[in-house]
Amino acid sequence: FSIWEVDHAKSVERLGSTQLGRGAFGEVRKTRWFRFEVAEKIFYGSNHPSFKNEVEILAGLAHPNIVPLLGYAIDNNRYSIIMELMDGDLFHLMQDRMHHKKSHDGPFTIFEAVDIMLQIGEGMVYLHNNKIVHRDVKSQNILFKKKKYIDGSEHICAKLADFGLSKTKENSSTFSNQTPNTGTTRWMAPELMSRGQVGSKVKSFPFQLDVYSFGMLCYEILTGAVPFSNTCSHIEVKRKVLDGVRPSLPEQCPDELKVLIQGCWHAEASLRPLFSDICKSLRRLRCSLMTCSLM
Ligand code: ATP
Repeated sequence: FSIWEVDHAKSVERLGSTQLGRGAFGEVRKTRWFRFEVAEKIFYGSNHPSFKNEVEILAGLAHPNIVPLLGYAIDNNRYSIIMELMDGDLFHLMQDRMHHKKSHDGPFTIFEAVDIMLQIGEGMVYLHNNKIVHRDVKSQNILFKKKKYIDGSEHICAKLADFGLSKTKENSSTFSNQTPNTGTTRWMAPELMSRGQVGSKVKSFPFQLDVYSFGMLCYEILTGAVPFSNTCSHIEVKRKVLDGVRPSLPEQCPDELKVLIQGCWHAEASLRPLFSDICKSLRRLRCSLMTCSLM
């Protein structure tokens, strides 16, 4: 993937200290690359395995709902990934919206929520068709950009990001070695939690791990809250999930969507829907919501 390598000293100019975010692997800054403003993800420590993994995976992907890689740079033992600059992540957008809202309804209208779910679903279909399991689907890893239409209305474009933990199916031996730290507990499928079964279940249905997490992400999009109460410890979350407990979906959620989300977080991985079917249902639902609004 060396065609993606850029000369950091010549082309990248860090713009002061505009930090866009920070995660377990490093920090993300707003940077100028040639004459473009871009996002630069700088990895802590040198040659972090996650850097190589993320570049290798992103270099092979091109989809409107996946954050595009523009290049990577290795400069004085600092490893960084250059990508499209987005407006932020979905988690913080939802927090802002909930903060400024007076009602207890979720951060989005049902139509907006279904539209965002569908965009992420389309990105996931493409990813799974390319035999890649994301393994860390959650609102903090979904980036967005706001687009304004001529009539002043706003549209949220959502893109999947953070492929640091992603794996290709070819690399499937690694699926049996997942530790409970793989991914984030609140979004983690039960088969990753029950140590005894990790090997066979995870290896047989690796893509269904993302479907489970997507179900939890849909809950976040509908409510603006993280799955399970904030006060619940990771151990409590695991106990609940293994006992079959799932978050309660809001009353105003259409029944078809409830059934779809409940299918996504089914305890039995093989019974969860595929992303292609999830998108079909979401497309149908979006269409009927649009028709209702026109009547
Ligand atoms: P994690 O601990 O979740 O693995 P990480 O170190 O891998 O995090 P990212 O999740 O890729 O880092 O990014 C951290 C945060 O930086 C994101 O949640 C987002 O707020 C911000 N960010 C990342 N990429 C971009 C981008 N292209 N444009 C704007 N903001 C971004």
